[in-house]
Amino acid sequence: MRKPIKVEEAIERVINRSMEGEWEYVQIEKCFGRILGKDIIATTDVPWFDRSPYDGYAIFAESTQSASSQQPVQLEVIGTIGAGSVYNDGILPNQAVKIMTGAAIPKGANAVVMKELTKEVKHNGKVYVEIKRNISPGENLSRIGEDVKKGSLLVEKGTMINPGIIAILATFGFNHIPVMKRPRVAILATGSELLEVYQPLEPGKIRNSNAYMLQAQILRAHAKPVGCGIVNDSFENVLAAVKNAMDVADIVVTTGGVSVGDYDYIPAVYESLRAELLFDKIAMRPGSVTSAAVVDNKLLFGLSGNPSACYVGFELFVRPYIRAMLGQKHRYLKKIRAELAADFLKPNPFTRFVRTKLSYQNGKLIVEPIGKDKSNIVSSLIDSNSLTVLPGGTRGYRAGTEVDVLLTEDEEGAPIWQC
Ligand code: AMP
Ligand code: MG
Repeated sequence: MRKPIKVEEAIERVINRSMEGEWEYVQIEKCFGRILGKDIIATTDVPWFDRSPYDGYAIFAESTQSASSQQPVQLEVIGTIGAGSVYNDGILPNQAVKIMTGAAIPKGANAVVMKELTKEVKHNGKVYVEIKRNISPGENLSRIGEDVKKGSLLVEKGTMINPGIIAILATFGFNHIPVMKRPRVAILATGSELLEVYQPLEPGKIRNSNAYMLQAQILRAHAKPVGCGIVNDSFENVLAAVKNAMDVADIVVTTGGVSVGDYDYIPAVYESLRAELLFDKIAMRPGSVTSAAVVDNKLLFGLSGNPSACYVGFELFVRPYIRAMLGQKHRYLKKIRAELAADFLKPNPFTRFVRTKLSYQNGKLIVEPIGKDKSNIVSSLIDSNSLTVLPGGTRGYRAGTEVDVLLTEDEEGAPIWQC
């Protein structure tokens, strides 16, 4: 008789066995979506020289002290600086240099007046800029270090690299980016009924959909899927296939054969490998037979063959483990509160993880259960972007109830996960 443990306990047991992986360098063009392997520290100030934030005129602000709309001041324009150029001669009071956005402020200037507030006039072959108001020293300067101070911690390791982070990496001239190595996750589908995706249907057979679903879930978790094919329900074959999977991957995920049926060989395979069993029964629906074991510090996850149960088992247990290996700060699926859109009236002693669609409607976050809520259902996964947690021990839940929702499409996750 298997003894069910709580979901939180099962997740803890898995995470406690995790070890942070190694990092490697990739070129900046390849780092999008990877997990940062080291903190990013600013190697310079940004900007690293005083710059003009606008097209306009660099001036000595005090020259405009008496300016008003009745009595504008006129400053002599002694040159022009485009972005990327430097004006080597300084300016004196009552002089101005025409300046473009991003160009370095010339010596002697302490403010920029926007072009829109000025007018150029000519007298005796000289160009002047007319200014109708008093400009304060420091006005419209983009100063050294105003964006980023040299030495400051900008992004912590374990963060997913997004386009903004890539902008920062490029700003500092980082060409090779330290990213966490993607853990290799073996996918092994067990079941004599399974056909390859390209095979025509035969009586009694079904296609191996779990392997492809898991492949995508592994990619979504920033890890590397390693397909290990299909193995039929024979103890020797499953044992050999699991050993092979252990050789080629950091984590082994099997689907099917984990229950108590005549042809369910995963428990016997764990035993034969002298695996340390972390759990083989969890107080949850779907996927109560989800198992995990450790052999030589390697995690073997035995997910149910039922598609929905397989999906949920991956998100709840494998994904946090991968996040821990990747050094991500938040290992658990992010949890939010939302309102249940429809009655869910199935009583159950175990906590349910209902595949749901979370959306924002009329100013409220709502979750709708999708399709049929059974572990063998595959269509309920199509629109699923979340798992709604419905604790057991009730007669069901009414529409309008506030419930906990775990986000499967959220990147960062949240530090607290309870259900
Ligand atoms: P099992 O966990 O082996 O008892 O399988 C439970 C149910 O899931 C059975 O109906 C299997 O046919 C089905 N199943 C098992 N493996 C897969 C798979 N890779 N893809 C789709 N369905 C599967
Ligand atoms: Mg089976």
